Amino acid sequence: TLVINRIAAGEIIHRPSNALKELLENSLDAGSTQIQVLSKDGGMKMLQIQDNGSGIHKDDLPLLCERFTTSKIQKYEDLETIQTYGFRGEALASISHVSHLTVVTKTRDSVCAYRAKYSDGKLTGSKLGENAEPKQCAANDGTQIIVEDLFYNIPYRRQALKKTSEEYSRILDVVGKYAVHNAGVAMSCRKLGNKVSGSDLQTNVGSSKLEVIQQVYGRSVSSNLFEFSKDLSTTNLGVKINGYASGTNVEQRKTTLLLFINNRLVENSQIKSNIEQLYSSTLPRSPKPFIYLSLLIKPQYVDVNVHPTKKEVHFLNQDLIINEIVNSIQDILFKNND
Ligand code: ADP
Ligand code: MG
Repeated sequence: TLVINRIAAGEIIHRPSNALKELLENSLDAGSTQIQVLSKDGGMKMLQIQDNGSGIHKDDLPLLCERFTTSKIQKYEDLETIQTYGFRGEALASISHVSHLTVVTKTRDSVCAYRAKYSDGKLTGSKLGENAEPKQCAANDGTQIIVEDLFYNIPYRRQALKKTSEEYSRILDVVGKYAVHNAGVAMSCRKLGNKVSGSDLQTNVGSSKLEVIQQVYGRSVSSNLFEFSKDLSTTNLGVKINGYASGTNVEQRKTTLLLFINNRLVENSQIKSNIEQLYSSTLPRSPKPFIYLSLLIKPQYVDVNVHPTKKEVHFLNQDLIINEIVNSIQDILFKNND
């Protein structure tokens, strides 16, 4: 079963950036206001995320990396209404099967922090034969997760990875998108060895969305954005639409779409193609759009039970809702480009 678990884990975690996405969502679920990401060799040698969230209680550490262990579902009915990201309790378990995982964590009510190491879903000692109990240590409130030697035990996954620079840019891309969506939460991302001041991405506590978009994507993008929103949450569509769309002045080689559904970074090819179509058919010079789009959909209308690698997410009344999105963007484009 160890090998089966490892293969299953390798199906959930494909590359450093998708491990990081799961870890980032956990930090956000924990109510963090500061999240720092550190990477070595594109996250393959080491990927570390430090947050100042709730921390994990000492008693929860032994079972933390058991599959389906989650603090986010209390009863079955919650499955239908759960609003937090990923609810299956599989992310940490999977990561522990395909890497060396260390968790350092401190809750506010605990006098000290604890360090726990995991392998194949279980607590392990640092050295062979050492007892596997979490060890007391000093650390700030919050949680630090350190993932080392990702895929050391699955050669085919390791071989499928790209150059370290490419894996790192995917990590940076994920952090940037979550930073925009969670503007106000301070996030940073850097390579090991670089000073904090040399972070590749750094946002501040309390920044506005436009400020973060400027920090992550540059002023040429942020200065040409228009906000749109439509609240249809009380209609039969049950959706709240909110976002920013670029005007005609932005020169991009390809479409940038930051799509969040119920606060989860997802993809939806129909939304993307319909928006691209709007830009190419109605604007002079057919520019490629930059779009940040957040949809809050009634939980029972969207399939949240989506596999972490299956990024494409579909929802009820999709055609009608996409129509509303495209119309909202069209309205602001024509209002601002006449
Ligand atoms: P899920 O997020 O689906 O519950 P995970 O495997 O991602 O499953 O995480 C398991 C559990 O570990 C979470 O439910 C949460 O209780 C705890 N946890 C993980 N990361 C953090 C963190 N950064 N801060 C606080 N608790 C965390
Ligand atoms: Mg999770």
